[in-house]
Amino acid sequence: MGYYADIEIEKEINKYTKNFKQKTKFKCDVCGKILGNNKSLAQHKHDKHGDVSTQCPYCKCMPFGSINDLNRHIESKHNIKG
Ligand SMILES: [Zn+2]
Ligand SMILES: [Zn+2]
Repeated sequence: MGYYADIEIEKEINKYTKNFKQKTKFKCDVCGKILGNNKSLAQHKHDKHGDVSTQCPYCKCMPFGSINDLNRHIESKHNIKG
């Protein structure tokens, strides 16, 4: 019976480690800040570091607020139609 109990304890430990890993999964790769979920992480990255997905690929200037702003910039500054 002792063997059986050990397995149950191991299950509990695995459950705990899994939860712990899930909690610390959303880590900002720029500043190392831990966020609660993927949405918070994305929001944090956008607010604190700028969203690199809206960075101009031609002049690498500061990220824009949205893809539309970026496209407008590319059209007007680089004369490239998206
Ligand atoms: Zn960060
Ligand atoms: Zn540009």
